[in-house]
Amino acid sequence: MEHKNLPPTRLVQIEPLKKTSTSANQPESLIFEPPTLSDQQIYQKKTYIAFRKISGFIYTKHSYGAARRWVLAQILPDKILYRWKPYQRGGCNRCGLCCKIVFRCPFFFENGQTTACMIYTSKKHAPPPCVVFPIDPVDLAEVQREVAPAPCPFYFEGEPEHPTTWGAIKAEIRTELGKRVDKLKEAFDF
Ligand code: SF4
Ligand code: SF4
Repeated sequence: MEHKNLPPTRLVQIEPLKKTSTSANQPESLIFEPPTLSDQQIYQKKTYIAFRKISGFIYTKHSYGAARRWVLAQILPDKILYRWKPYQRGGCNRCGLCCKIVFRCPFFFENGQTTACMIYTSKKHAPPPCVVFPIDPVDLAEVQREVAPAPCPFYFEGEPEHPTTWGAIKAEIRTELGKRVDKLKEAFDF
């Protein structure tokens, strides 16, 4: 018997199921294209999300985790942002729970058989914090805490040379400074 509180099963990723990925053994019922939104609708929804996230600073810890993810996704160079990806294991079961933490994201769509994000695969509007998730163990733990007891099955195996963001930034700065010093030495023949 289906339990009402259980997330949908059979679902793999929050990005829309694509017709191109459909094969003979892909059931027709799983072909899914999310509703198309105009730029104006997308900006309106993004404004609403920003308002909810900012007001969330008053009453939910999740806003701090979401803000961290947003800031890191915006400012970090790929080399630092994606340093944990080679160690990432598991995958998204498409439960959609992370799209409903504190409030239901207006881009989240579910139809009883599948879930999808209306903008995840959009070149122009894809949400960086959602696309890069999970950035690191801190990021993952934040979402896993929010969706518990349901599992978010990602996990990490091993770790990069510089596990913390600050450690990775310092290492990058040292490397860049070292390169410049070497160039100066070369130029002045020290
Ligand atoms: S909570 Fe985890 S498993 Fe569920 S949709 Fe989000 S990323 Fe996927
Ligand atoms: S934009 Fe909303 S629906 Fe899309 S992945 Fe992010 S939280 Fe989920």
